[in-house]
Amino acid sequence: MKIQVKNDNDSLNFDSKKLLEIWEEKKGQKGWACCNLECDEKATDGIYVEKTGKNEDGKKYIIPVCRSCKNMKNFQYYINIDKLLEVK
Ligand SMILES: [Zn+2]
Repeated sequence: MKIQVKNDNDSLNFDSKKLLEIWEEKKGQKGWACCNLECDEKATDGIYVEKTGKNEDGKKYIIPVCRSCKNMKNFQYYINIDKLLEVK
């Protein structure tokens, strides 16, 4: 199932390599590919995102993305829902 998310602009203040490490550790898998379903790049960074639209829940999630997707402010895109790692 796919879901729309939006980049959290605060992500740029965090160590994105560390976020990718956290994601890989908690998910028990490698973040090989950028989670943006429209993007074919490799994942190089972790980023904070929020769900948008009717799925909005005020929570933050980490996903792996490529550098160009990471750096787009207010960028909205679709990802596979099981890629979301909730931040507790
Ligand atoms: Zn990408």
